[in-house]
Amino acid sequence: MSKRDFYEILGVNRDAGDDEIKKAYRKLAMKHHPDRNPDNPGAEEKFKEAKEAYEILSDAQKRAAYDQYGHAGVDPQAGMGGFGGGGGAGFSDAFGGIFDEIFGGRGGGGGGGGRANIYRGADLRYNQEISLEQAAHGAEVKIRIPTMEICEPCHGTGAKAGTQPKTCPTCGGSGQVRLQQGFFSIQQTCHKCHGTGRFIADPCRSCDGAGRTKQHKTLSVKIPAGVDEGDRIRVAGEGEHGVNGGPSGDLYVQIHLKPHPVFTRDHSDLHCEMPISFTTAALGGEIEIPTLDGAAAIKIPPETQSGRAFRLRGKGVKNVRSNHYGDLMCHVVVETPVNLTERQKELLRELEECSKDTDHKHNPRTKTWMDKVKAFFEG
Ligand SMILES: [Zn+2]
Ligand SMILES: [Zn+2]
Repeated sequence: MSKRDFYEILGVNRDAGDDEIKKAYRKLAMKHHPDRNPDNPGAEEKFKEAKEAYEILSDAQKRAAYDQYGHAGVDPQAGMGGFGGGGGAGFSDAFGGIFDEIFGGRGGGGGGGGRANIYRGADLRYNQEISLEQAAHGAEVKIRIPTMEICEPCHGTGAKAGTQPKTCPTCGGSGQVRLQQGFFSIQQTCHKCHGTGRFIADPCRSCDGAGRTKQHKTLSVKIPAGVDEGDRIRVAGEGEHGVNGGPSGDLYVQIHLKPHPVFTRDHSDLHCEMPISFTTAALGGEIEIPTLDGAAAIKIPPETQSGRAFRLRGKGVKNVRSNHYGDLMCHVVVETPVNLTERQKELLRELEECSKDTDHKHNPRTKTWMDKVKAFFEG
């Protein structure tokens, strides 16, 4: 399914400023919010579409990625890594905001029937970059996340100190109102109290009546040995707080690996490239190679060809779900000597001279190749 252009969804030009984008989203969100359109299933899709477009375009980094690469730049499913935020269903961005402003901090959850609406807090995603060594051995990282905490001056009631919230006069505290339309009566979220059932005449100054304020907290997250690019670590209950006593959402720490100067990783296996001299390749010898657990030695047998791979069993990365370790593949590359002195050149010419023979005893690969070329030309 091809996605619509985010600018088109919000109905703004590509050079639209932040305020214009925010205004356009606010208008669409109000119009298509599922609570306002209980009998129009298409509204929820439109609402989600606008929310996703806004999440990308309101974030300078994501917007730049979208402008440059289109949906592929911001969609985590597209394989480019992206900046997250795309698929969007249950996730609110860790630095979200406008959604809270409009609907009073409910992130996940659909319509909660019954009395005052109870919502589970939104799940949060946090992108964490780690080194290959941390991924291989496991690590503990400290992350700082924004969080909505109980407002201290009002103890979470949202009412100015010394006053209490009152029962909402519009819905009588149920959070829902019934609208009569012809023969039908339709239940809708009360717009005066946004479903909380409470009405605050004199709001608390420090939280504007929300009862919660945005703060930051630092969490210690254990990264298990063997995690790989794109893995997610769930930290239960560390997402946004629920609304009206609902449970908190979860925090998902999304792992990204920094490129390593020596190794590349392929699942549990590691690969590295190791230059060896022409003489070592011809005569054999021992070379020292790096592994994640320190240096190791490998024996290069005589007559080793360039590109040959040596496998070091168990020197790769542990599988995150088992105790199996991958291998380290060391690819040797024969280095052609450079900056030769006259004496060195002389020796090489001498070597070449005494290596000449008609049946290619010293270079069977050249012979095989020449035979193939000959066969090709002769049809
Ligand atoms: Zn307060
Ligand atoms: Zn009400």
